[in-house]
Amino acid sequence: MTFEELHIDEKLLEAISYMKFEKASPIQEQAIPLALEGHDVLACAQTGTGKTATFLIPILQDLIQNEAHGLTSLIIVPTRELAIQIDQELQGFSYFTDTTSKAVYGGDKGMDWDEQKRAFTEGTNVIIATPGRLIAHLRLGYVNLRHIRHLVLDEADRMLDMGFIDDIRQILGYIPIKRQTMMFSATMAPEIRKLANTILVNPKMVSIAIAKPAEGVTQSAYMAHPYQKVDLITHILEQNPDYDSILIFTSTKRMIHSIVSAIKKKIRNVTAEGISSDFEQNEREEVLLRFKAKQTKILVATDVLSRGIDIKGINLVINFDVPKDPADYVHRVGRTARADAKGEAVTFISESDILRFKKIEALIERPVNKLPLPAELGEAPVWKDVLPKPQRNHKKRNNHSRHKHFHHGKPKGKGENK
Ligand code: ADP
Ligand code: MG
Repeated sequence: MTFEELHIDEKLLEAISYMKFEKASPIQEQAIPLALEGHDVLACAQTGTGKTATFLIPILQDLIQNEAHGLTSLIIVPTRELAIQIDQELQGFSYFTDTTSKAVYGGDKGMDWDEQKRAFTEGTNVIIATPGRLIAHLRLGYVNLRHIRHLVLDEADRMLDMGFIDDIRQILGYIPIKRQTMMFSATMAPEIRKLANTILVNPKMVSIAIAKPAEGVTQSAYMAHPYQKVDLITHILEQNPDYDSILIFTSTKRMIHSIVSAIKKKIRNVTAEGISSDFEQNEREEVLLRFKAKQTKILVATDVLSRGIDIKGINLVINFDVPKDPADYVHRVGRTARADAKGEAVTFISESDILRFKKIEALIERPVNKLPLPAELGEAPVWKDVLPKPQRNHKKRNNHSRHKHFHHGKPKGKGENK
């Protein structure tokens, strides 16, 4: 489907074509017409499928059509990076219109506070906000959400994971009940449905696929001991000299610095940087910009980056360790092969990560190809298809006669069987 077929305003169509969007993606094709008709929408699609435009285009069309004034549209997102990115995309789409927008998120500098406050008091049309910062402004009394026509919850699953549910409920209290609400999520976990039931009215459900990495991603994995991992990165980079944009994920912030410096030590003249939520906002933006501009070849990041952030042309994603939440795997891997391109994702699995990786394989509904570790790196840990009984600490189970059978049976611990 082309965007012309949506019968939207010329100014919007022109901007879309400037942004080099030619065909609507499947989620756009299905959800935009419903949203244009004014329905509430609950959309589930993997990362990189074009959800942003799915909600921005109908919002902008409505604002143009109704010559909207003041604050009419609120987009709630989990992270500041995502807020900035959506604002940038919105500025592209609204280039030929009068619509104004502002990203509102927590920062370390007092000066953006005043700028954000002005956005509220001077009637900016679309606010893209993180929940905590929006509430902070709301408490000061100058924010008027009574004319909100559109509410979007983007990355709703992430917001729930991050514990924003109470904040979101609080914000809902300020918004008119009569409005259009759109909710987006990469997964449809039961909690997401529950939230949807409370905030959407007769929603149209659009679901593109269960959470699976985009088709264009080649996934593989190596079994590796922690001390072999940096050498393995070196090996992979030597095998792929044409790769110019590589994203390495680790679950632990404190590993970032050591990975970056180990890589720099091993590989001559390589440009590598780290980024995490510990970095100041402007520092994070600069690091991201250098990576996007391909001035930095390797970026080492925690999961703050794995959701929603859109960087084109990443050749390779390396999971230095296996993410704790299987959905994070999908998000990490989704950073490569954005919108139909090809990409590669490699995961390093140490012995203690096997169980976690099995959960990921269960989620994506297929095993990931395990590659043999290059011989010069030494002996790899062994991938075990059947795992031994997890070792656990039976503190409460000291009544041996009563629980005799427990030790022979399969212990069903919390979270172990999920
Ligand atoms: P999601 O939110 O589903 O993860 P995004 O909205 O961030 O995905 O889109 C991923 C990338 O694909 C972005 O770079 C976006 O500009 C691009 N994109 C989205 N829709 C289209 C389209 N119809 N044609 C071309 N590129 C698109
Ligand atoms: Mg998105």
